[in-house]
Amino acid sequence: MHTENYTHLAVCPYCGQAMQVELPIEFPSREELDAAAIRNCNCFEAGRRVEKEKRLMDAKQTIEAMYGLDEDGDLRELILQVVSMIVYEKIESAKVNIGYRKSISIREKNGRVQITETQRQSVTEEV
Ligand SMILES: [Zn+2]
Repeated sequence: MHTENYTHLAVCPYCGQAMQVELPIEFPSREELDAAAIRNCNCFEAGRRVEKEKRLMDAKQTIEAMYGLDEDGDLRELILQVVSMIVYEKIESAKVNIGYRKSISIREKNGRVQITETQRQSVTEEV
């Protein structure tokens, strides 16, 4: 399969540097141009953004391994969303209560996102 590349002018949304980028898209959206500029720019903020995207890709693999095929996918999607918001510094932490027996705490610690599952064991016996 042959993929043609098109040259576009893109501007880094962080530092404003204009540059030429190659994309396999003839009419890219503003978001696609920004993303290409971020990948190509050497400024500090663009570097940080690329690093966060890489962290998120790694986190996604871990979460898929933790909440894999035996779940219906909703929980996995929710946790991915929470981790994404933590990585992009929109929230600091979140706690998901699943019924009253199980909870999942997600927070950032030492530059890593921690996912902690807590099972509340309460055993009552009637005699
Ligand atoms: Zn830049």
